[in-house]
This record gives sequence, C-alpha cells and structure tokens, in this order.
Amino acid sequence: MNSLSSSDQLVLALSKGRILKETLPLLASIGIAPLDDLSVSRKLILDTTKPDIKLVVVRASDVPTYVEYGAADLGVAGKDVLLEYEGTGFYEPLDLQIARCRLMIAGPVAPTAVPTKLRVATKYAGITRRWYAERGVQVEVIKLYGAMELAPLVGLADRIVDLVDTGNTLRANGLAPLEHICDISSRLIVNKAAMKTKHARVTALVAALSEAVAKAAARRPR
Ligand code: AMP
Repeated sequence: MNSLSSSDQLVLALSKGRILKETLPLLASIGIAPLDDLSVSRKLILDTTKPDIKLVVVRASDVPTYVEYGAADLGVAGKDVLLEYEGTGFYEPLDLQIARCRLMIAGPVAPTAVPTKLRVATKYAGITRRWYAERGVQVEVIKLYGAMELAPLVGLADRIVDLVDTGNTLRANGLAPLEHICDISSRLIVNKAAMKTKHARVTALVAALSEAVAKAAARRPR
C-alpha cells in the first residue's frame, strides 16, 4: 500500500467546513500554512510552509478513520465525531478550544401530544442511544446525515439531537433546546504508532499547538 505518511513526513488530517476555518489560523500562528489557497485549490493533499508537514482535508466524520489507520499521523476533529466514532487507535492529547458548541436534544416549541416511545432523529445515533439508555428511556433512533431540524417539522421525529451554536437554526424552525448532552470543541488526535515512531516531532507539534491555544484563550473576551 502506498503511504503518504513516511518516516520523514507528518500528515495532518483536517475536518472540512466550520472546523477548517478555525483550524487554519491556529496552524498559521505556529508557522504552518498551506501553499495553495484552499478556497480555490482542488488538491486533496496539500504542501505547507513546513516541507515535512502535509495536510489532507477530509469529511469531518472521516478524520478519526484516517488517523486510526495511520494514513494521517494527526488529525483535528470535533468531540462529537470522536464520541460517535468507535475506534481506539488514537490519543487525544489536546483540546484546541475551537468550533465550540453544544450537543443538545431539541424539540418543537409547541409540542403536540408526546408519544410513549419517542422518535429521535440524529446523525449521532450511538451517542443518542447511549444517552437515553443510561436514563432508562426507550426511544427509536432515526439516523439522518443532515438537516436534522427538518425531521420534527415533517412528522419524521419527535426530537432531534444536533449541535447548537447560536440557536438560530433551531429558532428559525420552531424548535427549542430541551436538554444539554455535552459541550463540544475540536480536539487534536494522534495515531498511537506515530506517537512512538515520530515521538519528538509529534510532541513538538502538540506543545506548539498547546501554547497557541493558551495564547488564543488569553485573547478571548471573558
Ligand atoms: P446555530 O444556528 O448557530 O445554532 O448552528 C446550528 C447549525 O450549525 C446546525 O446545523 C449544526 O449542526 C451546525 N453547527 C453548529 N456548531 C457546529 C460546529 N462546531 N461544527 C459543525 N457544525 C456545527
């Protein structure tokens, strides 16, 4: 198998979308920037200002897979994705404190009669099953891949489990947050083998990012 991650390279898998927008400034603050403009480039493997560091930009839910199998040495993924992913092939050494939001249960502002067995639509089927099971509540979990907010509006589900940031999406669709499952932020993950075989470079990168996160936190208004 052809491997991008040779002994003299570090490959970092980044989550597309909202997380990417917040990861790039953090990486830039420690001198790592893609050589191509990501908003224009169609490249899937990107060289950076550090010749020994490459980036791959993938779907958020695929980041743990790339890192677990060693196709990337490190990755940036939301805690929601990590809680849903069932592998164990990586460490999670650092909370990057970016893309912060909450994982919430939400439902209609004006609920109709509540059925005996709730139907809950979500892309977080594992987290949702565990959350209700721990509380002894029987639910039917309906797996969706996007636009969860639509499900209660069209009678597909009584509740949704989704990420909430400002709450605007819920409000715009006549939904309200009901229960807070957990706080979410993006985390740095490291392939277990890379932590051993590339220890010095991985720990140097973790330390640099850790310092950048602390500086960014100090700048944030309280
Ligand atoms: P908001 O309207 O600001 O509450 O944002 C809610 C929408 O944005 C939902 O569709 C969420 O799935 C999505 N969202 C919110 N925060 C994040 C995040 N940190 N990462 C990815 N998607 C998010």
